[in-house]
Amino acid sequence: SPLGNVSSIGMNIDQPLANVKTIFVGGSWRAAPDGAVLPMHAPADGRLIGHISRGTAADVDAAVTAAQAALDSPAWGGLSAVQRGRLLMALSRRVQEEVERLAWLEAHDTGKPIGLARGDMQVLARYLEFYAGAADKVHGEVIPFEPGYTVTVSREPLGVTAHIIPWNYPAQMFGRSLAPALAMGNAVVLKPSEDACMSCLAVAELAQEVGFPPGAINLVTGLGAEAGAALSAHPDVRLVTFTGSSEVGALVQAAAARHHVPVTLELGGKSPQIVFADADLERAADAVVRGIVQNAGQTCSAGSRVLVERSVFAAFAERLASRFAAVRLGTPEANADLGPLINASQRERVERFVAQARADGIAVIAETPLPDDLPPQGLFVAPVVFGPVHARHPLAREEVFGPVLCAMPFEDELDAIRLANDTDFGLVAAVWTRDGDRQARLARRIQSGQFFINCYGAGGGVELPFGGVKRSGHGREKGMAALEEMSVTKTVVHFHG
Ligand code: NAD
Repeated sequence: SPLGNVSSIGMNIDQPLANVKTIFVGGSWRAAPDGAVLPMHAPADGRLIGHISRGTAADVDAAVTAAQAALDSPAWGGLSAVQRGRLLMALSRRVQEEVERLAWLEAHDTGKPIGLARGDMQVLARYLEFYAGAADKVHGEVIPFEPGYTVTVSREPLGVTAHIIPWNYPAQMFGRSLAPALAMGNAVVLKPSEDACMSCLAVAELAQEVGFPPGAINLVTGLGAEAGAALSAHPDVRLVTFTGSSEVGALVQAAAARHHVPVTLELGGKSPQIVFADADLERAADAVVRGIVQNAGQTCSAGSRVLVERSVFAAFAERLASRFAAVRLGTPEANADLGPLINASQRERVERFVAQARADGIAVIAETPLPDDLPPQGLFVAPVVFGPVHARHPLAREEVFGPVLCAMPFEDELDAIRLANDTDFGLVAAVWTRDGDRQARLARRIQSGQFFINCYGAGGGVELPFGGVKRSGHGREKGMAALEEMSVTKTVVHFHG
């Protein structure tokens, strides 16, 4: 077991969590061939919480070979859709039984509040449940053709699919990326993030326990530039799904293009919440705070811009100020509103944005005081709202990936649409207004993969297709859309006279 210590000692942070053999290939757990490891630190207090294997290109190659062997075997490749669905459902139940342990691992690994981590595990269970139920409901088509012919179009698995995921929601990403691939009958190789991956190890272990055959699920821990790069360049992979930064997304796509491997990219955003004067300002303010504070702003669909109609800008800023003053920061156990950032370089990056905004004289309209009882080594950053921010300022354009919100006034509906779309990104957006015609106009004109009206789902439910336009990426995850992404059509033309 990659997490033997956790099962045997219970939940004790003073013991190492991961025990080095964290590479899962063909049903067995192993270390990197040269024994190289990477230390894992808890973001909330800097404590060393274990080591993971530093997987290499050779480990990735072994994982892809094992996945291919599973596809060729009756144990996985020979299963019916119903049987694959049952395995996913069994895993969903095991996850639900293990919510406490998994949430505890996730919270210490990522620094997030334990309550948020528990919610993440429910979402993971829900992904597994949704795709368990969907596995045997992907139907083909019969196409009318020339007399004497029958033409069918069915959806086939792609083969070996590669999944490169980030550290912000490791368990949710496991469900979102792997469950539809497995439902469609692919065999998967997962490269989780070197910053946080313990819940992924634990769920892979549960998958083995509920009967996923060897090679159906493989996992290689390691560095992005090593294991990740090797996976995205592997010639025998049939699809790469990547969630993370725009820069790395471009590298992954270029590597996969060498073998004409298709790529699904989910790259984050600069998502706007648009607040009109006729909105329920109390509800809107609650949602705007949640949209940037949740997971310390480290969410691809964080609502990192708030556009407010000028006549209520001051009134809305007041509401933000009182709410941000009451936001609580804390360690995972404290179950506060937010925890620390994931690592020192992310914290430096976020602090640079904040320092730049202050140096440029942008006013602070709301902020949360840092409590003095936080662990000194914790990577905490105080939530802050700047505004008004000019549309050309880096704070209004770049993804900060921290609890930093940028507020901008707008004059009228056209101005709101122009500002909202004045970004390289297009992941999600929201409008707050009671005017039904305006809701419909904005839903049509705002460039985003998801659009919320008088609510903000930060990604929405597992059944809702999700993904970006523009530089937020391409391809769709979640919902039935992911099953199309994870499969390919086959057209069979049968002449029978
Ligand atoms: P990243 O893109 O560096 O890492 C994401 C995943 O890609 C990790 O598993 C990593 O190991 C892997 N990776 C890194 N280099 C690789 C390479 N050359 N080839 C293949 N795989 C590689 O993201 P990060 O460093 O974790 O975060 C940096 C920024 O990314 C954040 O500030 C944020 O803007 C963005 N981000 C977005 C999301 C999202 O959900 N869209 C999630 C995390 C981070």
